[in-house]
Amino acid sequence: MNKIRERLIVPNIEAIIDYCKKNPKELEALLTLEYSNEKIKLNQPFFADVDKEKDIKELNKYYDNEPYIIFGKIFRVARNFDFERHAYPFIKYIESIGIKPINYNVDILPKKEPHKNNFGEPQIADAQNPLVRYVMGKLSTDAFAKDDWETARSFFSSKCVYCGKKRSTSIDHAIPINRDEVGEHKLGNLLPCCGKCNRSKSSRKHNEFLNILCHEKGEITKEYKMEIMDKIEKYMLLYNYKPFEQEMREKISQKLKELYVETNKLADKYVEEIRDLINSRQDK
Ligand SMILES: [Zn+2]
Repeated sequence: MNKIRERLIVPNIEAIIDYCKKNPKELEALLTLEYSNEKIKLNQPFFADVDKEKDIKELNKYYDNEPYIIFGKIFRVARNFDFERHAYPFIKYIESIGIKPINYNVDILPKKEPHKNNFGEPQIADAQNPLVRYVMGKLSTDAFAKDDWETARSFFSSKCVYCGKKRSTSIDHAIPINRDEVGEHKLGNLLPCCGKCNRSKSSRKHNEFLNILCHEKGEITKEYKMEIMDKIEKYMLLYNYKPFEQEMREKISQKLKELYVETNKLADKYVEEIRDLINSRQDK
């Protein structure tokens, strides 16, 4: 199991570090779980900043003892690599930053990613995005019922806030409930709109979408845009909705990204277990 670490990862670490010294952003990225998961399929950041890790036990469990110095700081490299899961993404990753893999017989590497998605196959995002909405939806402590929503809706004369024409039939989140924007499910962030506008707004913020409708599509006038933006601002004040400040948004966003990775990990675990179950039946 650890052959991949000794034969593939370790021999290429110096080259990755050299690359990071020239591109400090890459080092920052490799210290995050999300990037390390996206590029190398790791369930932990590729590098650990030793000064920042408080829990030495955890550090020793997940990171190799060998210290590497980058910009005068000590870093350690993830230790839990698995051939099937990590060899191919690792090679692809180092090639993508211009490193030729050394000291390894590339011929014996898996030629492809272990599993390619079949046409129409459900994607992990189908589970991750609703889970993020679920978690963010649970946070609100101000209860509100359908009546309260109807009152909020009448603030906009029951019309779609975006096109200003159609009746509002659906609920949009001005600041979207996703891992990047971190909107909340609270009345001041809920806007009435029509189904068509809700679909085409997608994961944009309300003001971005109004700008598109006005300046790119020409579907609303500049006057209407200014008027409705002003009205939305008043509405947010009325319901005391304040989007998170940047620092908090980034912290929550980081948590939600961890939720993404954890969801992926959990789903993979069950895929493996169920696959084993099916295979054990075929063996008999
Ligand atoms: Zn509309």
